[in-house]
Amino acid sequence: MSDQINNQKTSGIIGVTSQNIFPIIKKFLYSDHEIFLRELVANAVDATQKLKVLATSGTISEEIGQTQVVIRSDTQNGTITILDRGIGMTQEEVEKYINQIAFSSAGEFLDKYKDQINNIIGHFGLGFYSSFMVASKVEIVTKSHHKEAPAVKWSCQGDPEYTIEPADKEDRGTEVILYLDDDSKSFAEPAKIKELLLKYCRFLPVEILFDDKTINETQPLWARKPVDLKEEDYLNFYRELYPMLEDPLFYIHLNVDYPFTLTGILYFPKIKDKLDISRNKIQLYCNQVFVTDSVENIVPDFLTLLHGVIDSPDIPLNVSRSYLQSDSNVKKISSHITKKVSDRLEDLYKNERKSLEEKWDNLKLFIEYGMLSDEKFFERAEKFYLLKDTDNGYYSFEEYKKAIETEQTDKDKHLIYIYASNVQEQYSAIESAKNLGYSVLILDSPLTAHFVNQLETKWKETRFIRVDSDVASKLIVKEELEKPSISETEQQELRLAFEAVVPKEGHFYVTFENLRVDDQPVLIIRSEFMRRYREMSAVGGGMNFYGSMPESFSLVVNCNHPLIQQVIKQKREKCLDQLSSIANERIAPQSALDQFHKEIDKKKADEISPEQKEQEQHLQEKISELDNRRRKVMEEFAEVCPLIGQTTDLALLSNNLLQGEALSKFVKRSVSLL
Ligand code: ADP
Repeated sequence: MSDQINNQKTSGIIGVTSQNIFPIIKKFLYSDHEIFLRELVANAVDATQKLKVLATSGTISEEIGQTQVVIRSDTQNGTITILDRGIGMTQEEVEKYINQIAFSSAGEFLDKYKDQINNIIGHFGLGFYSSFMVASKVEIVTKSHHKEAPAVKWSCQGDPEYTIEPADKEDRGTEVILYLDDDSKSFAEPAKIKELLLKYCRFLPVEILFDDKTINETQPLWARKPVDLKEEDYLNFYRELYPMLEDPLFYIHLNVDYPFTLTGILYFPKIKDKLDISRNKIQLYCNQVFVTDSVENIVPDFLTLLHGVIDSPDIPLNVSRSYLQSDSNVKKISSHITKKVSDRLEDLYKNERKSLEEKWDNLKLFIEYGMLSDEKFFERAEKFYLLKDTDNGYYSFEEYKKAIETEQTDKDKHLIYIYASNVQEQYSAIESAKNLGYSVLILDSPLTAHFVNQLETKWKETRFIRVDSDVASKLIVKEELEKPSISETEQQELRLAFEAVVPKEGHFYVTFENLRVDDQPVLIIRSEFMRRYREMSAVGGGMNFYGSMPESFSLVVNCNHPLIQQVIKQKREKCLDQLSSIANERIAPQSALDQFHKEIDKKKADEISPEQKEQEQHLQEKISELDNRRRKVMEEFAEVCPLIGQTTDLALLSNNLLQGEALSKFVKRSVSLL
């Protein structure tokens, strides 16, 4: 068709491969209709930049004049016009670029990604033709920068037929006029156009005018040289991007030419305890054209917590998200960013340690998340992660290990890291541990359970234990523990008395131990293991078995404490007769039952006669009746021995577990004891 002469109207049929392209464009790209404006403005900007290149290289000698791209809309007629003063097109070029190349590449493109077409983002390959998502007719009026070439008008009604004819256009450049279809008329509303221009075109490199006002900033910060910029410029840019957010902690300016092109600025936001509110604030650009603000699959998950801008023409935009992850440029870009982030942190650690310490509380959650989710980052962060203790001291892992090695190694050569998750709530446990000469860390992030688990897995011979998960003297077991000084039977009996006074809602397991005389008479501890797994499942660790278990505690009775010694003594005095008569009565049915079990163990289920079954049931009933009597005796003892309730309540009280009626009973009892 290129041998057509210019001064007559011609018509033709667009590329063979593209017979059905219009319905496809309309149907499949439905969700992203608004990007048509981005595509057309980006083309106008391209054409303008090409012209500027020709001018600077001397290919064009005359003044190039104004070069703004102008957007106009007409709500009455439902049209949008995009006008540029770029290189323009000759008739041949219109035929080549608009009719042939674009169509055939679009056809190939659609063929290739037929299956995943709904996932497609960007559609840069479709460019100009995305205008048919919203327009029933599109006209291009263009005049090339080649002076001798006459202006032409191309027109197409959204089917494979087009017309091309001479046009009256004096000045160089291209005008694209969209006649919006009935469903899309609202795109001509000035407010809508402005919204879209601000979203997609805010940082385009050529001035864009709408309603006689400039929409964009042609030299965004990330495209400028770091040496020309001050701290304040970076902060102002951040405030402009995120007017609602607090100032960031610090930033990195990215600038790579090889082996891929990448510019951008990444900011470290303050993240205290909520991960999700920070996510997805990075904006992705391609040559200053906004593409998306969801960068998952482009950067590692933990880096989506950062804020700022990434600009790269090397990230493929017209493919599905899952494909992105395996793209080699994306991989390189991703590991480059990870490296830059850890370099920056390591640099702070080495050269501005005080400042890192000041920012640590707002930064550590991000770093822990990175260490948990990215192996490479873990290796880097091991050098700059800071442990903070309850005296506000900061240590690297290395430093801390040295500091605690002598005092906190247990009998099995494990190094024990003691930590608190809440200084107020665990105050007395922290004090007791410190009195023994131990250091207590503050690990209070929502990821702590996962994080210490990871550290234990990575570092051999290391254990983390929360300060309240055991009696202070047992946090670090340096020698074999003494056995409790009372017999198994007495423990069973006393257990019943203590069970009578603990809150009915909780799960308390009563144990007896020989602690030190000056330890508390009764202590409540929550096992490190159970607690940690509950916490992990709460933040989504998949361990739902633990998550669904009720909170459980150990009630440790210190047999060496004088008050407990009194309890034991009183119990022996008051209950001995009753308990031993019950115990005597229990001997016969218990041994009969044992004997019975021995016999039926050898038989199959159907060999047991109904009489035997009845006999077994009878024995069992007898035993549980005796057990109930024993429990009764101990419950009555607990009532007449206020020391049991009082020492237990004190333990509950110091763990914030004494409430309501139980609390007022405690107060009354305390007064009467005084
Ligand atoms: P792409 O921009 O991805 O190349 P398009 O379909 O958007 O694909 O455009 C095809 C070609 O048409 C462009 O490469 C360019 O050569 C030409 N073109 C489009 N718009 C303009 C314009 N405003 N001025 C000059 N040439 C244009």
